[in-house]
Amino acid sequence: MTDTLTAVPTLPHWIGGAETPSSSDRTAPVYDPARGVVTKRVALASTQEVDAAVAAASAAFPGWRDTSIAKRQQVIFRFRELLNERKEELAAILTSEHGKVLSDALGEIARGLEIVELACGFPHLIKGEHSENVSTGVDVYSIKQPLGVVGIISPFNFPAMVPMWFFPIAIAAGNAVVLKPSEKDPSAANWMAALWAEAGLPAGVFNVVHGDKVAVDALLEHPDVRSISFVGSTPIAQYIYETAARTGKRVQALGGAKNHMLVLPDADLDLVADSAVNAGFGSAGERCMAVSVVVAVEPVADALIEKLTTRMATLRVGDGTRNPDMGPLVTGEHRDKVASYIDVAAADGASVVVDGRGVEVDGEADGFWLGPTLIDKVPTSSRVYQEEIFGPVLSIVRVASYEEGVALINSGRFGNGTAIFTNDGGAARRFQNEVEVGMIGINVPIPVPVGYFSFGGWKQSLFGANKAYGPAGFDFFTQEKAITSRWLDPSHGGINLGFPQNG
Ligand code: NAD
Repeated sequence: MTDTLTAVPTLPHWIGGAETPSSSDRTAPVYDPARGVVTKRVALASTQEVDAAVAAASAAFPGWRDTSIAKRQQVIFRFRELLNERKEELAAILTSEHGKVLSDALGEIARGLEIVELACGFPHLIKGEHSENVSTGVDVYSIKQPLGVVGIISPFNFPAMVPMWFFPIAIAAGNAVVLKPSEKDPSAANWMAALWAEAGLPAGVFNVVHGDKVAVDALLEHPDVRSISFVGSTPIAQYIYETAARTGKRVQALGGAKNHMLVLPDADLDLVADSAVNAGFGSAGERCMAVSVVVAVEPVADALIEKLTTRMATLRVGDGTRNPDMGPLVTGEHRDKVASYIDVAAADGASVVVDGRGVEVDGEADGFWLGPTLIDKVPTSSRVYQEEIFGPVLSIVRVASYEEGVALINSGRFGNGTAIFTNDGGAARRFQNEVEVGMIGINVPIPVPVGYFSFGGWKQSLFGANKAYGPAGFDFFTQEKAITSRWLDPSHGGINLGFPQNG
């Protein structure tokens, strides 16, 4: 593993419309996961650098807020056009730092574009309401205004899509943004910042500060930051939620997941096997909506395992630029942590059906490889079942009935996504009613809602009342004023100290 401080460039911040070299001497390595080498370093901002980004955003905010809806809309349409034209460039950046295969990187961008396209229609979504004559000669109406400077803190697994869950809507609604992307794959954020500049967004409306806990804490504590949108692991999400609430900010904090796929005996097992493999091993399992547990209602488990292993044997693991099925994990440290669960499984009495360690790869030997792994009869007391693994490890838990399966899913602390596979419409309907999870698939394994619905889980998968994007996104990035007005009708009722009533 190469890690020479001098040999590689350092990625700067993007503040006030231009690249801004860091004044802090702290940096972190950025790897090419398929080669296991450090390709660049990323600046880790000091509190003063975060202050500079917030100051740039604060200075840009009034002008952007007051820019007409028509002109704001033109900028967002232009951003959409540029992103669509150049998505291959961005996909290559994602593959080089995250490791996901190029086609998957393009899929991530397509789902981000969906939110940009939603934001193009923002004038309709930030309209207020108007009631005439609520009392004689009195009208009431509401207007939705931007919050001001908004902070976005994003995870490593979707370096383009997750920031795009938030910033197109925030910007359309008239806010100014400070984005703190993951330090593991930070270059996509600068690329998108440069695209905004090219699209005509005024300097300072979109800023990027790179960093770690120091930068996050500086955003959380800054009095001029009005809201925090966070996506990441549950312990950090909870910390963000509690800290932002204490500092008086609006906050939405999306956390981790452990998504179950419930398979009923009447399901089409070929569809189930295809779906479990796609959803369990796509992006090397580094998706918050990945399926990590198959809950097999007996007697389906043995037949399903046979179909799964047949498919898994065909999966090609390798360098994401060479068009394999699955790439490496994001860092060596993360790969080792994920692999360690295979030993835990064996020690806890589970049966390791396919062990992804030592997988044959089409890539450099030092890449952060771990092949698809299948573990059967996972005890629900095991850490393999209890914890979010976030890698290509699929567990099977066998249950005797639908009721036992649903009770198991509902006993979990996460509630991000789940799926049921069945040909029984009544069972599916009952499942959508009974399961305590925010996003549900019926014969669909990764039920990420389209842009005009909202994304978010229940329980420890989402802290705060607001989901991401869709109608909830526009609610989050605007604040409403209600105005009660009367225009001169010269009659008036004189002095009356009673509470106002309509009449
Ligand atoms: P992470 O929690 O380690 O990091 C997320 C962000 O928090 C990064 O920007 C990171 O720099 C920052 N951070 C890390 N440690 C911090 C600390 N101690 N204090 C303050 N900030 C800190 O998450 P990750 O490993 O980058 O991403 C994977 C996680 O994100 C998984 O748990 C996954 O389920 C979750 N995720 C959830 C969703 C969702 O929609 N619910 C979507 C994507 C990812």
